[in-house]
Amino acid sequence: MDYDVLVLGGGIIGCAVAYELSKYNLNIALIEKDFDIADDISFVNTSIVYDGSEAEDDFMAALEILGNSMFDDITKKFKVPFKRIGSLTIAEDDEGIKFIEEKYKKAKKRGIKDIHIIDDKAVKDIEPGIEGEVKKALYARNTGVVCPYDLAIAYAEIAFDNGVSFKLEEVVLDIQKMAKGLKVITNKNKFSCKVVINTIPGESYSIDNHKFTEKKKGRDITYISLENKFRSKLSNILFTSRKNDNFILHTPSLNGGNLIGICEEKPLGFHNAVKSSSRIIKDLTKMM
Ligand SMILES: Cc1cc2nc3c(=O)[nH]c(=O)nc-3n(C[C@H](O)[C@H](O)[C@H](O)COP(=O)(O)OP(=O)(O)OC[C@H]3O[C@@H](n4cnc5c(N)ncnc54)[C@H](O)[C@@H]3O)c2cc1C
Repeated sequence: MDYDVLVLGGGIIGCAVAYELSKYNLNIALIEKDFDIADDISFVNTSIVYDGSEAEDDFMAALEILGNSMFDDITKKFKVPFKRIGSLTIAEDDEGIKFIEEKYKKAKKRGIKDIHIIDDKAVKDIEPGIEGEVKKALYARNTGVVCPYDLAIAYAEIAFDNGVSFKLEEVVLDIQKMAKGLKVITNKNKFSCKVVINTIPGESYSIDNHKFTEKKKGRDITYISLENKFRSKLSNILFTSRKNDNFILHTPSLNGGNLIGICEEKPLGFHNAVKSSSRIIKDLTKMM
């Protein structure tokens, strides 16, 4: 066998798995198609560490609750900045109130701590920079922000020091069953191994029982990144306008800037995105 374990994909999940497994006496390699690790989705994700209240299904929620509870220790150990800044899901009308009340009930059932429904006055006290109609909000105090790129790099560096072999600019083409173990075919090599941990999303290989024939119709998120000189700083993560699965999201980043994401069925142009988000944040249009 070439390896005990092959980790496919070098995003934050692949790097975390490589780090955890590198604590054992195993011969491990990680295969990544890009020139560096954490260069795909882990580089551009919104940096939010959820508390389990926003997840639709209970299994995902359970993983988020467990992961969230581990974040203080993990980030302290790796010296990666992490802050529990809290999130506010804003209800602007009766439909919004119904939405957050359902989320609250589910959160309580899941045993999520430090989550409350608060009124408009409390929202404005917590977040004076907020604009527009606010009836109520779901306040999840344990939601945090991290730099996923830094965390992935930290995991990978220690995994590397512990002997994991990183194969960069190598594309996985297929995973096949052998009489004993598995075969991973890349554009450069054929590797045999005992175990494969596949973190590559949405691909089908010979070994898979079901094929991803149909890609799920997604939504477009337009992101605006604001520099730290922006005046109307918000201190919490904000979600608003969750109608027909459309929403606006605002995340203060750990370097003092702001990230605004607008999720719609169709991509928004830059000016429409600014117009949408200025409904939440004072002075945004004045900055343009
Ligand atoms: C826009 C956006 C925002 C998000 N925001 C959040 C958030 O705020 N909080 C949160 O928890 N989650 C968020 N997510 C979910 C996100 O998917 C995860 O947080 C996380 O970044 C996924 O990590 P990963 O390692 O599973 O995947 P990835 O980071 O996608 O890693 C997979 C790796 O596999 C590599 N790869 C792909 N194909 C091949 C191949 N054939 N051969 C070799 N390598 C290959 C890729 O280059 C990549 O490095 C967001 C997702 C998106 C798209």
